[in-house]
Amino acid sequence: MTTKIFEQHESQVRTYCRQYPVIFDRAEGPFVYDSDERRYIDFLAGAGSLNYGHNNPIIREAIIDYLNDNRIVQSLDLFTAAKREFVRTFVDKILVPRSMESYKLQFVGPTGTNAVEAALKLARKVTGATEVFAFTDGFHGVSLGALATCGERSKRAAGGIPLNNVTRVPFEGFHSNLDTISFVEKMLDDPNSGWAPPAAFIVEIVQGEGGLNVASSEWLQDLERLCRKIGSLLIVDEVQTGCGRTGDFFAFEASGIQPDIVCVSKSIGGYGLPMALVLLRSEHDCWRPGEHNGTFRGSCLSFVAATRAIDAYWSDTGFIEDVRKKAILIKSRLNELQDCNRGVCVVGRGMMLGLRFKEAAHASEVSALCFENGLIVETCGPHDNTLKLLPPLTTQPEVLFEGLEIIAAATGKILHRCNEASVASSVPEYA
Ligand code: PMP
Repeated sequence: MTTKIFEQHESQVRTYCRQYPVIFDRAEGPFVYDSDERRYIDFLAGAGSLNYGHNNPIIREAIIDYLNDNRIVQSLDLFTAAKREFVRTFVDKILVPRSMESYKLQFVGPTGTNAVEAALKLARKVTGATEVFAFTDGFHGVSLGALATCGERSKRAAGGIPLNNVTRVPFEGFHSNLDTISFVEKMLDDPNSGWAPPAAFIVEIVQGEGGLNVASSEWLQDLERLCRKIGSLLIVDEVQTGCGRTGDFFAFEASGIQPDIVCVSKSIGGYGLPMALVLLRSEHDCWRPGEHNGTFRGSCLSFVAATRAIDAYWSDTGFIEDVRKKAILIKSRLNELQDCNRGVCVVGRGMMLGLRFKEAAHASEVSALCFENGLIVETCGPHDNTLKLLPPLTTQPEVLFEGLEIIAAATGKILHRCNEASVASSVPEYA
């Protein structure tokens, strides 16, 4: 089927469709089908917004019942039964078990960048400081406030105006000889360094667009300690890492830190429906009514899907334990690839893993070859040097393994090292 109509009428700004130039139609679980009924395994999964898979039947049932009963869909920020159920479920099943019930929920426009904008504004309002510190390789969205916190040169240039009031600081491991937090601390301690304590630090626990760099628990604890010492807020961007992706509901949990503000979006909408929210410590809730608003602050359909997803997957620990097992399965297969291909190393955490290629171009070549062979998997990182695997967390082990074998074969072929015999390895025991 021709894609001509898009080339003719849709702006050149389109991106993903350039890498996967077919017309998609149906989707189910970890699979999507093009209009010729060709099946693809989806390791892109809406860039992390489909943790529970495409058209998850458990979630779909709640949405269809809600629609069939003529329940309210668009409601601005009015009180609705759908929002009440979401708040109750999110507090009971996500916040309370993590001792986070005192955090307030702020519903914002339905994208990650909306959550980041609100977080930045609030931090500046709370502290009275204008500067925000953001990290190398960080990505937080493309509206101007969020864009200023992003590292990527080409995206920044598209902003068209100076992106001010953000200082870039090195993420953990940015330079092998640099203890990055102690460097920042020294700069802030020294009255002649030219730096002053910022309103906030904004950080991703695993840098989703920046190449799957992982912040260690020690580094995060040092960052938190520094924030407390200088009176800056700690904003954790969980837009891509949240909702189970890294092996906990929030990626920061493993480190024991307590962020001041948490940005949540993507998979929180359960079914791939747009939704975003900001969690803020209640002592920082100094917003005046309507000071930050938006028409689509919580669509009821997203609330219904989000509520059902939490009920179905977060009422006990079964789901997340399964995610951790699958993460081990993926990692062990990627480690094998690393062992037999000198040009790659394994990066990431949980079910947010990838292969970083020494020769950046190889990552895109592998991605293209995977697509030819029925797997959708994207690249990230500076120069797009990292193949990023984001399968739905509900993907069955056999399907994960099928996708991994497509990657193994493509990697072997592109790097001319591993021969395609690796394809023949058997499914490891999963129990
Ligand atoms: N923060 C992070 C960590 C992200 O990965 C993204 C999107 N990839 C965003 C913010 C922006 O989200 P959105 O595209 O929904 O605005």
